[in-house]
Amino acid sequence: MIYFDNSATTPCLPEAGAEALKYMTSQYFNPAAAYAPAVQTEREVNAARAYVLSEISREPGDLIFTSCGTESNNTAVFGSLSAMRSKGRVIVSAVEHPSVYEAAIELRERGYDVVFAPVDATGRVRLDALGGLVNADTRLVSIMHVNNESGAVNDINAIRALIKKAAPDCLLHVDGVQAFMKLPPVGCDLYSVSGHKLHAPKGVGALYVKKGVRLKPYLVGGGQEAGLRSGTTNVPGIMAFSLAVRDFSAHRDEYVSGMEAVRSRLYNDLSSIKDVKLNGPGPGEGAPHILNVSFMGVRGEVLLNALSERGLMVSTGSACAAHKRGRNRILNAMGILGERQDGAIRFSFSHFNTVGEADAAAGIIEEQVGILRRFKRR
Ligand code: PLP
Repeated sequence: MIYFDNSATTPCLPEAGAEALKYMTSQYFNPAAAYAPAVQTEREVNAARAYVLSEISREPGDLIFTSCGTESNNTAVFGSLSAMRSKGRVIVSAVEHPSVYEAAIELRERGYDVVFAPVDATGRVRLDALGGLVNADTRLVSIMHVNNESGAVNDINAIRALIKKAAPDCLLHVDGVQAFMKLPPVGCDLYSVSGHKLHAPKGVGALYVKKGVRLKPYLVGGGQEAGLRSGTTNVPGIMAFSLAVRDFSAHRDEYVSGMEAVRSRLYNDLSSIKDVKLNGPGPGEGAPHILNVSFMGVRGEVLLNALSERGLMVSTGSACAAHKRGRNRILNAMGILGERQDGAIRFSFSHFNTVGEADAAAGIIEEQVGILRRFKRR
């Protein structure tokens, strides 16, 4: 099997899996308990917290462990606004993941003035347009660091400067689920990450909260995570996540250049097929691990199934988005419509992939696209 759907989820690093098992079977203590092994476990969780925090931000702040990127995003959006005294404007980009986009729709129903920032043809937020949307009443801006469908990278530091100039008290939340560790840290008030996108098990995420930013808890109960996220601490998930982050950090250059090499190779290989169009940034630009292309005259879902039969796993877009025909919100916002939208396939890579796999995948794709186009002409 060739697995090119790493933006949906990644294989768990075996060492991270072993770490999780250790904290499930031998060091299984509840860190909130008072006896010595539990206190030791709490120390280890807090060391993991300090380490992951140091990889997310260079500015002072805290880290709350959550269950996933979705929870981190929901906590950031609802938690920060609930802690404010008044409602006002909320800006999110038109291409946010549903865990931010749907939260924004809910906020509109609750009486917030919600506006969507447009993107360019690659999926990057248009700074000129964003500048026109931020007013003195703006409470929160939420913009993703890397777009999960196109691989576009937003210039968060420039966005931050623009927002703070027009609305100094406005908070900036960044969904960093696809960017964390693959791109250098950025400055913001809230930053969301997810373990399973980075070779940790599913069921763990984190939210960075800049010093001084107030949050109202989203989950209440036992007061874990400094009262900001109740629920018995997911020690196995947290310890495995920290180990996976450490592994990525130790091999960062090698991993990132490896993914970039696979992406460039696949793009070059696919460029020799007729009527292939790139959606999003090309090699050398954008995130190192995402490539989105359209095979004109072919339906993406049909091609996806044909490729899956041949052992190549890809996606027609984010696994979380409901994709009715012509209804890909992200590609719509990028102006990619009609036959080009219908034929879009997202390839996403991890450091486990090789250029040999890219060549093999391109061979399978060329063959299947040829068959489907001949079939269509009949
Ligand atoms: N944000 C982005 C950009 C994503 O790509 C995803 C998952 O695909 C999420 C948030 C949600 O993360 P999780 O699956 O951990 O809830």
